[in-house]
Amino acid sequence: MPTPILVLNCGSSSIKYQVIDVDDESRLATGLVQKIGLVDSSLEHTVDGISHRIDRMVADHQQALELIVSAFGMYGPPLADVVAVGHRAVHGGEAFRQPVQIDAGVIDKLRELSPLAPLHNPPGIAGIEAAMADLPDVPHVAVFDTAFFSTLPAEAYTYAIDADIAKEYSIRKYGFHGTSHKYVSERVAELLERPYDEVDQIVCHLGNGASISAIRGGVAVDTSMGLTPLQGLVMGTRSGDVDPGLHAYLAREAGMSVAEIDRLLNNRSGISGLTGGTSDFRDLADRIAAGDVAAKLAYDVYIHRLVSYIGSYLAILGGIDAITFTAGVGENDDAVRESVCDRLAPLGFLLDDEANKVRSKEPRRISQPDSPIQILVVPTNEELAMARETQKVISA
Ligand code: ADP
Repeated sequence: MPTPILVLNCGSSSIKYQVIDVDDESRLATGLVQKIGLVDSSLEHTVDGISHRIDRMVADHQQALELIVSAFGMYGPPLADVVAVGHRAVHGGEAFRQPVQIDAGVIDKLRELSPLAPLHNPPGIAGIEAAMADLPDVPHVAVFDTAFFSTLPAEAYTYAIDADIAKEYSIRKYGFHGTSHKYVSERVAELLERPYDEVDQIVCHLGNGASISAIRGGVAVDTSMGLTPLQGLVMGTRSGDVDPGLHAYLAREAGMSVAEIDRLLNNRSGISGLTGGTSDFRDLADRIAAGDVAAKLAYDVYIHRLVSYIGSYLAILGGIDAITFTAGVGENDDAVRESVCDRLAPLGFLLDDEANKVRSKEPRRISQPDSPIQILVVPTNEELAMARETQKVISA
């Protein structure tokens, strides 16, 4: 008997979904509703390699879910076979340290956490409510982006600010992309054929959003994203670390409002901000090859930040067995991996240049046989990880 699980990832204007059979880990369907709330919204639903597109205006998440349900009705697989629904929940705050089955109490708690993730939790809740209305007979499970980092020690998650204010407003480092960091780090232990709790490692999740984690014996001890997903590495459109004094300076000197500064740092910064609009690493590489000075600087700033974090986590862990690259940039961009490892070669990161250049969708080792630190590429699969977590909750 297959065990299909529907995995839903609701953003503010999109819903991505997959049906995964957790028995053989096959993907039975994938889909995406885009531009929710706009006149040209559409759904793309793929089964057995065939994509079906429906162009229809959907006003909100409820209508988007109804469209998804009708696509399953028309093209399959039958939703009646689905045994559970796993929802991506971005911010679990201090309340949720692991995935939970969703009930009214959980939804209330997620609502309370919304101020911590104003862009992510409200659409997530809208998606959960719509899916529970459409699929009332199966368990729904929330899988939190923050959960894997609930093990961070106090010295890593505490910001050095007034302790009373921090407590009152739940200000601390939470970390994000946890589902990916957990999945990838577990795969690394499998690839190294060693018990998870014996491997000390660093995982670099380099996508459009980017974060890095330090994991000691299967326990996350530090990560670069913080109270929000804005902290840390340079990203496609997000600044990552800046001087916190920048906010006051911009407010004072440029007369910018809090909302304007927030938009600047989230949407008009990172690689895009430095290049005047290019955030994709393929386009960045083209511009660098054409001699574009701004593109080259953006790349150098990105690598500099990444190398600083790796050095810092190497120090925190007191040495590592492996470093792994994952997500869109980490999996595909051999130049980024080479730039990072070349800088770190004196610290034991010996890259095999040939292996690094091989393009593949498979997990692979790209270090020299005698490299003190193993260097790996492991494609992330957040949907599969969510489906597995969902199954664990429903079979507990
Ligand atoms: P997210 O899930 O954060 O949206 P992804 O992990 O899908 O991001 O990564 C998307 C990014 O990966 C793109 O913006 C692009 O910069 C990078 N990317 C994707 N494919 C390639 C490639 N072949 N070469 C270099 N970079 C790539």
